[in-house]
Amino acid sequence: MLVLKFGGTSVGDTKAIAQVAEIVARARAQDPNVVVVTSAMKGVTDTLIHAARAAAEGHEQPYREARSDLLLKHQLVAGQLIEDGVERAAYGRLVDERLRSFERLCQSIYILGELTARGMDVVSGLGERMSAPLLAAVLRAHGLQADWVDAAEIIVTDDAFGNATPLMEPTCARANARLRPMLEQGKVPVVTGFVGATADGIATTLGRGGSDYSAAILGACLAADEVQIWTDVDGVLTTDPRIVPEAKTLPELSYVEAAELAYFGAKVLHPKTILPAIEASIPIRVANTFNPEGPSTLVVPEVKNAGSVKAITAIRHLTLVNVEGRGMIGVPGIAARTFNAVAGAGANVLMISQSSSEQSICFAVPEGDTAAVIAALEKELATELERHFIDRVRAYHNIVIIAVVGAGMRGTPGIAGKVFTALGEAGINVVALAQGSSEVNISMVVDEQDADEAVRRIHRAFFKD
Ligand code: ADP
Ligand code: ASP
Ligand code: MG
Repeated sequence: MLVLKFGGTSVGDTKAIAQVAEIVARARAQDPNVVVVTSAMKGVTDTLIHAARAAAEGHEQPYREARSDLLLKHQLVAGQLIEDGVERAAYGRLVDERLRSFERLCQSIYILGELTARGMDVVSGLGERMSAPLLAAVLRAHGLQADWVDAAEIIVTDDAFGNATPLMEPTCARANARLRPMLEQGKVPVVTGFVGATADGIATTLGRGGSDYSAAILGACLAADEVQIWTDVDGVLTTDPRIVPEAKTLPELSYVEAAELAYFGAKVLHPKTILPAIEASIPIRVANTFNPEGPSTLVVPEVKNAGSVKAITAIRHLTLVNVEGRGMIGVPGIAARTFNAVAGAGANVLMISQSSSEQSICFAVPEGDTAAVIAALEKELATELERHFIDRVRAYHNIVIIAVVGAGMRGTPGIAGKVFTALGEAGINVVALAQGSSEVNISMVVDEQDADEAVRRIHRAFFKD
């Protein structure tokens, strides 16, 4: 069994979707059991989210426009790829109905002036609920038996709206119950990526870029032979090709390396994608929809010839928070209280930088969480601040974490030196530094304005040839 996931660009327009149909047909010739997972068409999720936010802020225009733009976008592909008039009309009705409900939702958001995380998941999940029926219809037009499936029927999650976690046991039970009979009938299920539902049936999403994760979840549940992530680049590369066009495909990566890379910003894989694959030991292939015969990456449990540095990544839109003061030396429990307060604010700490002197605690959080984190810290540490045990809680905005990743870095001397020489030569200031506890990564903080050049310099230092 194969699970094939197609990203937003891969289903972004008529040409791309036609290409996807070819890839599915080829996979089907290779293995009779193929499950497809699809993202929304490129840009659709963003449009839906922006329109809903604008509605909450009192603007009607964006959702009105979004409705007609999205109708056109989907209808255009349907018109070009679905020849059968009845099929095309049925799809037209479906999209129209979805977008009507989108408009109604936005109208209530507009009237209430409020957008809850729960409401947002209903809106943001609509893109996949329009692309999956479209792709299924296109596959039928290509002579394959295909039906779309709403992942809300399969992927059972907790109620952490916007970033839900799947409950694997019920999810796997439903995946097998829902998808196996379809496969036995010779059908290709086309499942919506990104979305799920709570046990009570309330719509949830798995976080931005979550369709990769959906594919891995289904792959694990169905004990697939391979999960294939079809995207717009030749697999996982030594760095983001948008920053370094000559970046090279990594033919093989271990789960640990891929997880680390994804966690530290390689957008090509959603950070949680590897988790279900690890448990079921399922290989993940990352390949290019637009260059299907070209190089690709296979992510496997263990890589024998580890080499050294594999890739350079960057996570953007972060803030570095610094709690500093000489009075902190020797005072027990400050670090614990600091991180408890941060956790209480619901923020995810991406990196902690230790200072040997104990005079400061410094960590990176997403830009959007900064205000809540600072407020929580000032409250928690109010007494220390008042007594000047702690001088201040400071935020450095617009910072980026650059990570150098590779399992073979373990025990390879001189890597940090090479990184800092490369940055030093370029006059790039390293704001903070952390050696990942996993020993497969060295990460450092630089200013946003230096980030691209830092990636280029480090990439050049390790991948000259
Ligand atoms: P999809 O819509 O198919 O899910 P994404 O945009 O989420 O695609 O991810 C693919 C993008 O990830 C690429 O276009 C590339 O710019 C970016 N990217 C960042 N780091 C890497 C990397 N190390 N290797 C490959 N792509 C990367
Ligand atoms: N459509 C969703 C997003 O844009 C999920 C995905 O593309 O993987 O975040
Ligand atoms: Mg993606």
